[in-house]
Amino acid sequence: MMAPALARTAVGYDTASVRADFPILAREVHGHRLAYLDSAASAQRPRAVIEAVDHYETHCHANVHRGVHALSQAATDAFEGARERVRRFLNARSAKEIIFTRGTTEAINLVAHAWARPRLGPGDEILITWLEHHANIVPWQMACAATGATLKVAPIDERGELRFDEFEALLSPRTRLVAVAQVSNALGTVLPVARIVKAAHARGVPVLLDGAQGVPHGGADLQALDCDFYAFSAHKLYGPTGIGVLYGREALLREMPPWQGGGDMILSVSFSGTTYNDLPWKFEAGTPNMSGAVGLAAAIDYLEDLGAAAVHAHEQRLLAQATTAALEVPGLRVIGTAADKAAVLSFTIEGIHPHDLGTILDSEGVAIRTGHHCAMPVMDFFGLPATARASFACYNDDADVSQLIGALHKAREVFA
Ligand code: PLP
Repeated sequence: MMAPALARTAVGYDTASVRADFPILAREVHGHRLAYLDSAASAQRPRAVIEAVDHYETHCHANVHRGVHALSQAATDAFEGARERVRRFLNARSAKEIIFTRGTTEAINLVAHAWARPRLGPGDEILITWLEHHANIVPWQMACAATGATLKVAPIDERGELRFDEFEALLSPRTRLVAVAQVSNALGTVLPVARIVKAAHARGVPVLLDGAQGVPHGGADLQALDCDFYAFSAHKLYGPTGIGVLYGREALLREMPPWQGGGDMILSVSFSGTTYNDLPWKFEAGTPNMSGAVGLAAAIDYLEDLGAAAVHAHEQRLLAQATTAALEVPGLRVIGTAADKAAVLSFTIEGIHPHDLGTILDSEGVAIRTGHHCAMPVMDFFGLPATARASFACYNDDADVSQLIGALHKAREVFA
């Protein structure tokens, strides 16, 4: 496996060597250099991740947990080793608390099914915020519809910040769970999760954090965060698709029934009864995504080698630079101006539909996201059908920002 680029932090952040780790960035799009500014949707993978997955597929693959032969043991070691790597990354107390899922969406659904539904009844409440991704709205709507519980939504303000007082006022004796994003994917707002957890716990209410956008921008020390559930996807953290993690506090996971039945989640099966497996396998029915787990572990190694703090500072610099330059584009309005923002720049330009903007930018080699970003309530709040969103990651550089801004001016000329 190739070593990631070295000496990035000693003499400042060496973007060129980081970019060289990502083979896809060498390709052209429509005859232009690729400016990939859609990492909030899915980040690109460094060679270290691609090679780790390739190594697993080439040398280690077999089914896990079940075989006595050498390959099955190699695959099991790789898979369980990846779990331990995730545990260390999250600073969780035990690998029993790390459940592999298909991603954030499946992790939240797991909690909605196995933790929330058996506990909810008419009059009970789940509290979320107006900023949530659909993955942290719809599973709760479904759980409420099935149980008679009510979904409560804490409002935001014009900057896209949570109205904390109103959030706190919505915590009631009937609140059974608080489920909030760590970072909004649509606006970049960093939510005050430490305060949220503290306020909820003061009333005995557990908290689920949707870390899909939080984990790539500063990581997650779960013992410091003190949340009860935490969900994230590998593909937003420079890892593969189809793999993610649910962290759950061990005591809560123990109380929960399995949510899917099948192989691997059992200790014994007979027609007179089935005994479920121990944690974490109780929640991992069927053959898991072993190569994905290996890729996720490699992505964590990669990010930690870069240094989460160095990456964060680099992204913040690009965000500030892009925001300042974008505001000089006539008619451009930044949507989401929270004081604490991750590297997401959401905007509209008067007279240009975001989809048209996205198409023009694509023709200039600039990849951004346009649409509702799976956060339709946020769009409704701002009275918009869609925004354009540029998001920055460890491999973006000043040239990406210039290419973005140049393409925005070009779009203005097209629609003038
Ligand atoms: N939550 C947030 C905040 C997200 O940004 C996303 C994806 O964009 C998700 C949840 C869903 O992630 P996935 O599609 O990987 O399950």
